Amino acid sequence: MGRRACDHGEAARPEAALPEMLTMDAGAGAGAGAGAEAGDADADVVVVGAGVVGCLVATEVLARAPRRRVVVVDRGLAGGGASRFSAGLHFPRGATPRVRAMAAYSQRWYAGLRQRDPRVPIHPVGMTVISADDAAVREHYLPEARLRPLPGPLPEALPEVRPRPAERGWDGDGAHHADVAALTELLAARLRGRAAFREGSAVTAVRSAPAGVVLTLGTGARLTAGRVVLAPGPWLPWPELLAPLGVRIKKVVALHVERPVTPRDRVTVFHDEDAFLLPLAHRGHWLFSYTSPDWDVTPDALTGGLSADDLDRGRAVLARHAPGFAPYCVSGRVFCDAYSPDRAPIVRPVTADGRVLFAGAAGGSGYRLAPAIAAAAADLLDGLDGKDTI
Ligand SMILES: Cc1cc2nc3c(=O)[nH]c(=O)nc-3n(C[C@H](O)[C@H](O)[C@H](O)COP(=O)(O)OP(=O)(O)OC[C@H]3O[C@@H](n4cnc5c(N)ncnc54)[C@H](O)[C@@H]3O)c2cc1C
Repeated sequence: MGRRACDHGEAARPEAALPEMLTMDAGAGAGAGAGAEAGDADADVVVVGAGVVGCLVATEVLARAPRRRVVVVDRGLAGGGASRFSAGLHFPRGATPRVRAMAAYSQRWYAGLRQRDPRVPIHPVGMTVISADDAAVREHYLPEARLRPLPGPLPEALPEVRPRPAERGWDGDGAHHADVAALTELLAARLRGRAAFREGSAVTAVRSAPAGVVLTLGTGARLTAGRVVLAPGPWLPWPELLAPLGVRIKKVVALHVERPVTPRDRVTVFHDEDAFLLPLAHRGHWLFSYTSPDWDVTPDALTGGLSADDLDRGRAVLARHAPGFAPYCVSGRVFCDAYSPDRAPIVRPVTADGRVLFAGAAGGSGYRLAPAIAAAAADLLDGLDGKDTI
């Protein structure tokens, strides 16, 4: 995703005014936590949400302490939320030192994963950045991108792209794209056996009591945990806990361009437009991602596919940059993502006792920053454990 979608730094926030104890639904009942005593919890850590973020949090938590009892709970299937729709583009950039550090960490993490197992659905891709703003490009891209100015703005490998008069191009390194749904399912498969999975199980209530956190599931079951990491993607089901974060949900649209892809094709990032044109070799078509202006959407209402507006807006942007592709742009994918007020990921406690963390709201960059989000969540859990052993 592009600059507005991901490139802002998160300001430090005071941990004041956090609720001590929260109950979401009448079903949880006042005594939901009555049975939670230190030592008899069902799990040391429960991760709520089995998207790419939740699965990486569980992976990281277990990598650091393999004997931790970890449970992953999802209302649907692992990888079935926003991760299912992701274009999965990673590129080495960020607007603030924090996001740049997260992007660099995540890039190294994904490279390591691919090195350990070349079969993971992660595909390196050459990158060309187009912009009229040299200074912004220099500021946003990491050294890992090794940007090289192109002699002319029209790269030979990109005959479809028609740069505008003031624009110039850079070739760069470090980009890849992933089949995020497949990767998330793979992560979940590898976690199974080490972590317990509860799919098809919505968490309807979260209650932090002195002895532990009590989760009520839609199945009627209750889980008690020493710590809980909420990674619900664009669902924000516990307003008492999450409303103070100021997260909003925005539609995310990527159009499919039904043109053939060759192994030489590169991703073109239209930096000033917050858009990119990505060859998806594993699916046999191109993908054009642009910025949708539709805020405050509801994930469960986004079942109708692309609207005429989604298509028209995307095609209009594509026609400005790659007019030859616009007629082949007749379909696509639409869902939504969680955006923090400053567009940078949020990883922080949401209860005063620190036992319940939120991890996410990466604003259209949840795949590319997920390893760093997971590491930050694990750091917080480790810090808590230092003070109060599970
Ligand atoms: C069209 C599109 C294109 C995108 N392209 C890119 C891209 O190129 N690069 C990039 O970095 N990012 C991209 N993104 C963003 C990225 O996909 C998301 O930021 C990322 O997938 C979020 O992962 P997540 O695990 O936080 O959320 P999700 O994948 O949504 O997972 C959250 C999970 O929580 C579960 N859940 C929610 N509520 C509950 C509950 N009450 N109880 C139990 N479980 C619950 C859900 O069922 C879901 O499985 C794109 C997004 C979209 C929609």
